[in-house]
Amino acid sequence: MSNARWLTPASGYLQGYTHTLNPYVGCTFGCSYCYVRRLPIGIFRGEPWGSWVDIKKADPLKFQGELAKAKSKGFVAIFFSSATDPYQPLEVREKVTRSLLMGMVNEPPDFVLVQTRSPLVIRDIDLFQQLQGKLRVSMTIETDREEVRRVITPSAPPLAARLNALIQLRNAGIDTQAAVSPLLPHTPGFAKAVAESASRVVVDDYFHGDGSGGRRSEHLGMRQLYNENGWISWYDPSALERFVMDLREYLPAKDIGVHAEGFAPPM
Ligand code: SF4
Repeated sequence: MSNARWLTPASGYLQGYTHTLNPYVGCTFGCSYCYVRRLPIGIFRGEPWGSWVDIKKADPLKFQGELAKAKSKGFVAIFFSSATDPYQPLEVREKVTRSLLMGMVNEPPDFVLVQTRSPLVIRDIDLFQQLQGKLRVSMTIETDREEVRRVITPSAPPLAARLNALIQLRNAGIDTQAAVSPLLPHTPGFAKAVAESASRVVVDDYFHGDGSGGRRSEHLGMRQLYNENGWISWYDPSALERFVMDLREYLPAKDIGVHAEGFAPPM
């Protein structure tokens, strides 16, 4: 087993986090807007982003010790995950994410944000309950229009299953977040639907959330995709402003996060 570490010092777009944690390398969800496509890992593999995923080459038995060492140096807030989804279809069999969560139950970090778009996340409710007060589960739900999802993230799980998973998590007492990021074309009822499904909502768009002021999204061809599908009026920062106004009808301001600050740990 290699000497690779699980925890990576956080940098760039993430605010308030000390580390990122990626159990897998690559991601079979293959979202068309995924900024990881433009990172070296997405470019140099030689296979299309979304077509491959590997288990990270690090020793699961060493995670807890690594976490204890990080904690001995100070505050530890983990973004889990930043360059993959921790609930890949492969996770059903491999349980890498589950074993890392078990390490956290034994050696709790100050905070961990579990960021996913997979309903498989509900499998680990028992562990999330043991991390209560230190954990939030954030589910990406960028739209309520399945025909939009099928164009922009065709390999990602259906939206209704994600909303359902969020509700199950919340009903189990877990601190939940709907991550509407990036905001996609949606129906007028979308703000109400996400507000009623999670403890809080965070919203971001292509113009702030890709970490490059929208340039990465342009390079990924998002504007063209919107044009081709007749959605170009949505490709504008005003869409986010309108959506946040809608959310305010259903949630107090403290439960609405916007851009990178909105993803920050609560403490
Ligand atoms: S789920 Fe996340 S990491 Fe995976 S392709 Fe989509 S945006 Fe990228």
